[in-house]
Amino acid sequence: MHTRAVSEPPIAVPPGDLLTRLTHFLTELISETSGLTLQDTLTLGLGSPAAAEDPELLSAVEGFQALLDDFRVHRVRLETLLAHPFAQALGAFFRAFPLPYRDEHIHLTGALAADFLYPRLVRLLEGPDRALYEARIRAVYGDAALPITCEADVDRLIRLREGDRFDRYLKILYLPKLVLTSREAHRDAAYHMASRLHRAANVGALRLKFTLFRETTDPSEQIPGLSSLTPEDVVLGLHEGFEAFRAQMPTFQHILSPSFRKEPGFYDASRYPSKRAHFDAQIDEILSLLDRHPGLRGPLCEVDTVGAERGFYRKAHFQELRLGFRKLQARGFSIRSHHGETWRTLRHGVQAVDNAMNIWHVDAIEHGLSLGINPNFYYHRLMQRVMEANARGLPIAPNTPEHDELFDLDWNEHESVRDRLAAGGRVSNADALRFTKAKFHHAREVETYQHDVLNRMIDKRLSLIALPSSNKKLTSAFETNQDHPFSWWEKKGLRLGVGTDNDITLNTDYIRELLILLFTDAHELKITKLLIVATGETRRSHLSHLLWEMRKRLR
Ligand SMILES: [Zn+2]
Repeated sequence: MHTRAVSEPPIAVPPGDLLTRLTHFLTELISETSGLTLQDTLTLGLGSPAAAEDPELLSAVEGFQALLDDFRVHRVRLETLLAHPFAQALGAFFRAFPLPYRDEHIHLTGALAADFLYPRLVRLLEGPDRALYEARIRAVYGDAALPITCEADVDRLIRLREGDRFDRYLKILYLPKLVLTSREAHRDAAYHMASRLHRAANVGALRLKFTLFRETTDPSEQIPGLSSLTPEDVVLGLHEGFEAFRAQMPTFQHILSPSFRKEPGFYDASRYPSKRAHFDAQIDEILSLLDRHPGLRGPLCEVDTVGAERGFYRKAHFQELRLGFRKLQARGFSIRSHHGETWRTLRHGVQAVDNAMNIWHVDAIEHGLSLGINPNFYYHRLMQRVMEANARGLPIAPNTPEHDELFDLDWNEHESVRDRLAAGGRVSNADALRFTKAKFHHAREVETYQHDVLNRMIDKRLSLIALPSSNKKLTSAFETNQDHPFSWWEKKGLRLGVGTDNDITLNTDYIRELLILLFTDAHELKITKLLIVATGETRRSHLSHLLWEMRKRLR
């Protein structure tokens, strides 16, 4: 404690703890400046009288700015930045924004929390099929998964751990599937999800991805009690659950987006002669569902495709689903597609989006990372990794990105260089230069292709949905969060949306995704621009008014 001379004016430290003061401070500043970039907001904040009068607050703002600078040069982890009181206050600001956010991409099975799942699993585990459920849970999660005695036990199983990748991610979605076996379960799940997302992250609209046809011939995926569940149960259950939430929050909006696996081998071969026949039958089922329940016409208005896309990029790959989609489009449906999320080669990743646009006439691309990777950086980094291996005499293993890309380059009659690199035989300086030239021209070609596809997306007003945490955690497309292309896409003028993908599984929420996007481009991305994308409200003067209203509420 320090003493002051009597003549000095008293320092008016505002009431409340640091987090409360920071939240008020940020709300005032953002409303008075109409949502500038984070960097500009920090600069103005440091020069403000409020900061001068509150040394603890000033030091928090300074500390955060220093962390943000370190984050930009990869010296600080995203988690450290997010844990800082300034970031938490910014989160509180976003949470309190008067308009709700639109989660444009969330999957049912990855968004059910432990407090929903636990009591329902207990019922199964205490029922007559106990041994069967236990065996299934052990098979997917390992022996340590049992016994399940509390919510925390469930929570551990449904969240992705640090370092887990895509294959693990698909597996841990199993537990929610065990309880989603009836119309009631779907109804409860939808209500739980909508109310949880609204409470936790001010989400008031969502685009739900879910599987309409769950029967499968894969024994590891088979679920007890599923055989009596119909697509009608799934759709009506979800719709009723969301409507029940709307009764409490009249502005709530939901879109039901049935998602189909796109892989060629993924269909019920015991009942249908081809994937196309199975898919067409599913489309007919959706259309007859709409005929029987006209009330579904509002929310059931689009479909999506999911699944492994590494081998799915050529024109021929798109044929099986083409006519089914055309039939849906004739009935007013939009088509969305998970594409450009993962790829064997970057060129194929761009080609996949190109063909989804040309052949399926999609209205939105989900993920679309292949359109955001800078080819010149990507191929140069790839060459560095290959040359590092070569210097140590190491071969390039097949089925790695390095191997696939090496074999996708045009070697212009110098294929012997490629083969030597692959085999781990040392290459000469002249050969290294040939490699540099081959990757240079390839990078330029892919860059042109990528811009061509992006420009067509802008022309046709397609949407691109960004899923920052999902992309960082589930793909190896970029090394750090800062590489996410959201801000670059925004500057190019694409129609964007933001989604969490699976907020529970990925340990995130919508607010956290907004913060990540803002930290990723603190110098260029304006807070107002982010609010426009996240809320869908494009009238800037209305947004400014709402910010001012937030400021008034502080009093
Ligand atoms: Zn997804």
